[in-house]
Amino acid sequence: MAEIIEGGVIESFEEVPDVRVVRIRPDKWVEFKPGQYFQIFIPEGEETVKPYSVASPPSNRKYLEFCVKRVEGGHASNFMFNTEPGERLKMQGPMGRFVLQEQITNDIIFAATGTGISSIKPMIRTIFERGTDRQIWLFFGIRTENDIIYKKDFETLASKHKNFHFVPSLSRASEAWNGERGYVQDVMKRLIKDITNKDIYLCGVAEMVEQMRKIAEQLGFPKEKIHFEKYV
Ligand SMILES: Cc1cc2nc3c(=O)[nH]c(=O)nc-3n(C[C@H](O)[C@H](O)[C@H](O)COP(=O)(O)OP(=O)(O)OC[C@H]3O[C@@H](n4cnc5c(N)ncnc54)[C@H](O)[C@@H]3O)c2cc1C
Repeated sequence: MAEIIEGGVIESFEEVPDVRVVRIRPDKWVEFKPGQYFQIFIPEGEETVKPYSVASPPSNRKYLEFCVKRVEGGHASNFMFNTEPGERLKMQGPMGRFVLQEQITNDIIFAATGTGISSIKPMIRTIFERGTDRQIWLFFGIRTENDIIYKKDFETLASKHKNFHFVPSLSRASEAWNGERGYVQDVMKRLIKDITNKDIYLCGVAEMVEQMRKIAEQLGFPKEKIHFEKYV
């Protein structure tokens, strides 16, 4: 059974419109794997718990980072969105089996929509902290250029590592955008030609993950190479 721990919010800022990064320093450090989540106790109203993925890599022991999208009328997300430094929170974790494999022997394709990036970011960070000569792709589906969560982090990583390919795809791109357009699943389908020695990790809202999973199967990925997490 996962431990219940407490921690204090040390930072909370808007990363992109309606998406907030909340950093919590736990009173006691708990080991976790990239991709795992914590159940956060929402103390407002009737106490509930909601899962949020850890967006920071395990190597960063200063805090647990969460990246939360404000959902209209959503109880937990609005609570998280309004947290301020100094606030105390209770969490239970780590939980989840959507984790990065220990040995990276294949190329890896990551695909996320929205805050689904939260569980993928620590996986990618961990891969490059350990070092790899495999090709690592990140297909990221969002609406507009202003909605690209962790844009700078991924661009910096891509400029340092020639084997990291960052492919944001915008469903509502402006005229000026010269990257990929349209739904991320279509872009992935178009760009992935060869699935030999590749694993695929998918995360985001359930509908998108389901579509991506079907595409991965159509492309020929065997089931054991398709790893996924659905957020709702
Ligand atoms: C394993 C796991 C990890 C997760 N990690 C994260 C994370 O890192 N960041 C994050 O932001 N969320 C994450 N989620 C989703 C999160 O747990 C909540 O479900 C989400 O924040 C909405 O909770 P709420 O209480 O605000 O909304 P609720 O009160 O549960 O819902 C309010 C209304 O909004 C709708 N709704 C709920 N979620 C969404 C959505 N994403 N988009 C549009 N409409 C929605 C509901 O259907 C409902 O009608 C994760 C979910 C799972 C299962």
